Amino acid sequence: VKDKLKEKAESLPKKPGVYLFKNGRGKIIYIGKARLLNERVKSYFQPSDDLKVQNILAETDDIDYILTDSEREAAFLENNLVQQHQPKFNLRLKDDKSFPYLKVTVRERFPRIAFSRKVENDGARYFGPFSPASDARRALHLVGRFFRVRNCDEAIPGKRKRPCLEYDLELCSAPCTGEIGENDYREGVAGALLFLEGKTPQLTKILTEKMNAAVRTQDFEEAARWRDILRALDQIKIKPKMISVRLEDEDIFGYARQGPNQAVYVFRMRQGKVRESREYLFEEEANRPGAEILSEFIMAYYRKSDIPGRILVSMVPSDKSGLEQVLAEKAKRKVVVALPIRGKNKLLIILAGRNAERLLEQKGEDLPELREIQEILRLPALPSRIEGFDVSNTGATETVASLVVFKNGRPNKNEYRKYKIKTVAGPNDVASLEEVIKRRYSRVMREGGPLPDLVLVDGGKPQLKAASKSLVELGLKKIPLVSLAKKKEIVFVPDRQEGLKLEGTSPALKLFQHVRDEAHRFAVKFHRQRRSRRSFE
Ligand code: SF4
Repeated sequence: VKDKLKEKAESLPKKPGVYLFKNGRGKIIYIGKARLLNERVKSYFQPSDDLKVQNILAETDDIDYILTDSEREAAFLENNLVQQHQPKFNLRLKDDKSFPYLKVTVRERFPRIAFSRKVENDGARYFGPFSPASDARRALHLVGRFFRVRNCDEAIPGKRKRPCLEYDLELCSAPCTGEIGENDYREGVAGALLFLEGKTPQLTKILTEKMNAAVRTQDFEEAARWRDILRALDQIKIKPKMISVRLEDEDIFGYARQGPNQAVYVFRMRQGKVRESREYLFEEEANRPGAEILSEFIMAYYRKSDIPGRILVSMVPSDKSGLEQVLAEKAKRKVVVALPIRGKNKLLIILAGRNAERLLEQKGEDLPELREIQEILRLPALPSRIEGFDVSNTGATETVASLVVFKNGRPNKNEYRKYKIKTVAGPNDVASLEEVIKRRYSRVMREGGPLPDLVLVDGGKPQLKAASKSLVELGLKKIPLVSLAKKKEIVFVPDRQEGLKLEGTSPALKLFQHVRDEAHRFAVKFHRQRRSRRSFE
């Protein structure tokens, strides 16, 4: 079991996220967060004297994970999941950790701002969670400094004769002793809310108007105060992310597909917190529209699940209003299906979508052709991303080239690229290939795109040598490279004199041929387009 777990740990992505150790009954016994899942989880398998680690491993039967956008989001999610599942090895963590919120008691006549360790359904507005906790203290101080909103729980009107020190420090406008009227105080509260919501442009507009009004009435002290706040606002960015503070119930559906393979990743958010994630992999006809599949999936999903008020989706499902109606009838209240375009919900959708893509990638890892290629070429990882090149120049003065991308053994046409050869005069396959590979990967490096797990070029040893030369020049010698010669179907690899002759039935050879033929087809198509355009001209 340990070997299996270790292997799984090694296959985790080098991305931020939360990892879950589960026992034989599928119960979560430990939850952790990581900046790089792969590195962190692997570290559990290093020899260690830590009794806790030994105990965790002794009971672990499986490791699962959820990808997040950043380590910070991973920390929030970890905190949520720990509270929800209370894993036995996290108990200490559960007591230690709770991210603070700021609460504004908007229902009171003279609202106040205060720290809170939890969100309650008490009509107040909550902001956060703040991490590190010092951000909450800073935000509280700024609300006092900018908007003079009180942070005490003094009764108003009360018995106080004089304001407290906060007033002298210009951190409160002292409604307790009537130094400010209700309307003016409420204006300050409205500004504080905009500030905490991160609605800086809106707030800037209001404050600029106030500043200009103060200038008009020659109240230069007041104008200078607004000017200072405007300047400070420009530099402060308070953006609590990931966990909502409105206690809403939402389900978030991330959807991804690759040919017939479909993946849906669902976050269940209850009372404003991500309580659970669920994942689904299934097959559908490759040419069925995704919107239709998603609509059907959601309908089927709620046959067994409780229906929240809002359902967020990464793609608008077909017949959205029909779907909302059916779900509303079932839930006996309004149900909204929405595609978020900004803010926290957009982030959650991106996160769910990314996890759905990861499910597809994992499925791809089961492909026998990828396993066989990895073994034959002794690759460090499965060739989940293969990029194939071909050059076309038959019977014309102009040479073109193609790039095709295969993800998990399937063509991903969105990533195909065409090239007009610029530096090579006349038909010269080898030099053209050298140019196009150099152009492709210098751009990928410049723009930070993904590098392939394997490059395949159409041709024999000369083409292989040209491609290798370009990769070496770019410092990408480590990218595995093969060429596949036509007719004899021999696979050439750098540093090996002899080519590899694979069995005609070999799944690896079939995939190589598919990549090569697809690159050839795409290059020829581009070539024909160019030719017919020229003839037309
Ligand atoms: S000045 Fe009055 S309202 Fe402001 S913090 Fe002090 S006691 Fe509270």
